[in-house]
Amino acid sequence: MHTFQARDRFADGAQYIAGRLTQGTSGRTHAVVDPATGDEVLTYELAGPKDVDAAVAAAASAYDGWSAASPGERSDAMHRFAAELSARAEDLAQAESLQCGKPIKLSREFDVPGTVDNTAFFAGAARHLAGQSAGEYDGGDHTSYVRREPIGVVGSIAPWNYPLQMAAWKVLPAIAAGNTIVLKPSELTPFTSLMFAQAATAAGIPDGVVNIVTGAGLDAGEHLVGHPDVVMTSFTGSTGVGKRVAEIATATVKRLHLELGGKAPFVVFDDADLEAAVHGAVAGALINTGQDCTAATRAYVQRPLYDAFVEGVAELMGTVRLGDPFDPATDLGPLISHPHRDRVAGFVDRARSYARVVTGGEAPDHPGAYYRPTLIADAAQDSEAVQAEIFGPVLVVLPFDSDADGIRLANDTPYGLAASAWTRDVFRANRATREIKAGCVWVNDHIPILSEMPHGGYKASGYGKDMSAYSFEEYTQIKHVMFDNTAVARKDWHRTIFGDR
Ligand code: NAD
Repeated sequence: MHTFQARDRFADGAQYIAGRLTQGTSGRTHAVVDPATGDEVLTYELAGPKDVDAAVAAAASAYDGWSAASPGERSDAMHRFAAELSARAEDLAQAESLQCGKPIKLSREFDVPGTVDNTAFFAGAARHLAGQSAGEYDGGDHTSYVRREPIGVVGSIAPWNYPLQMAAWKVLPAIAAGNTIVLKPSELTPFTSLMFAQAATAAGIPDGVVNIVTGAGLDAGEHLVGHPDVVMTSFTGSTGVGKRVAEIATATVKRLHLELGGKAPFVVFDDADLEAAVHGAVAGALINTGQDCTAATRAYVQRPLYDAFVEGVAELMGTVRLGDPFDPATDLGPLISHPHRDRVAGFVDRARSYARVVTGGEAPDHPGAYYRPTLIADAAQDSEAVQAEIFGPVLVVLPFDSDADGIRLANDTPYGLAASAWTRDVFRANRATREIKAGCVWVNDHIPILSEMPHGGYKASGYGKDMSAYSFEEYTQIKHVMFDNTAVARKDWHRTIFGDR
């Protein structure tokens, strides 16, 4: 059971511009559907270009004040922001579970605390925005230093799989560095991004620093990316949409940060702790019903452990409890929507012609968008199930022989977001962490990440970093400043150009 009432909460609209909720003006509506029941939860007016313009204008007018605030002032406001989020933890958890179908225990123990922690991290990090000296010149008569400056109004676009955490990952480093932001969450999942922005206002972060436009990608999304007053686009979503976003951003000379799709390999060497690997694979594949860009999707298992691994994973998957997201005992909720569930089922159905579905492979008889945990074995490396991002509770398992083969197969997709290696041998672990081309390689684990750790892809998974102090690279620009301390007009180097005049 939940007490979150979306219709009451967003009666004034599902846009958050200049510190208040407003109605979208696109002339189109969107129905948010509870994927666990198929029931409509809220129909709201989508944002269109006019709303994006209003949000960008609000962010632009807030920029001078916010960017001029001292790091300490921004930090204080963000510490209060973390406290506001913490006070609203149960409300946020319920809203997240309702719109995503996410098990409440995941929202309570992962999404919400992760967001509060992220806010506290960036509140502290706001005071660590240091530049460096660029060295001396002319025997110390010159002083050179580097200023790390905010860049302006940031336009961010986020997906539906972790709406609250994605809002945090986009907004926090941007505002900690002194920028203002317009975030477009997925139109499927507007609630917690709006509530996040409301908490910012309650914390005293000035109106216009954080704005939310909930509109469709082709309409509000493209308008935000192409907007002339937006200096940067930070996008998290699929690689296909990321390419389109990059085209528009490039045409308007914007800084670009892309967090795109993934197809994480899970490489089990023959000396691994089998039980740990089996548990890691099931948890890593099923987290958030497999709708996680770093989820374990391709398990490569060295031949001596292969059969036991397949058997162990199938058995453990059989114990996973599908159910009502608001039942604390539920392990696995529905997928985000019925069309997405059907898309996932399509991948598995096609795989039956070229591989073996060991367990799962069906939707239970239920009105929600559920799908059983699924293990596919014996697929070829170049098959669709191994290469494409399925984004559901589906793990594919393949055997390998030599260590070099395992690593080669792990690298053999266009993606490079995350990976894991399972072994007790430090040399094998070191080789895997060095040779696997991904932005993150776990050893004997898969999934955990904390605020101080960078997240971002290699290859078609994008570029740039979310979280950690590294994310400031995306949201700041470097200015070199040089003082001539002597103010002597005619320098040697002037003579090089003008001669002795
Ligand atoms: P998506 O690419 O369909 O949509 C992402 C966002 O882009 C949404 O807000 C959508 O409205 C918007 N959008 C769609 N078309 C657009 C356009 N033409 N112009 C501007 N914006 C547009 O992705 P999704 O289905 O919401 O999310 C799942 C995808 O996100 C998966 O591919 C997953 O791997 C990826 N993802 C990546 C990361 C990461 O950190 N790399 C994290 C989470 C999700």
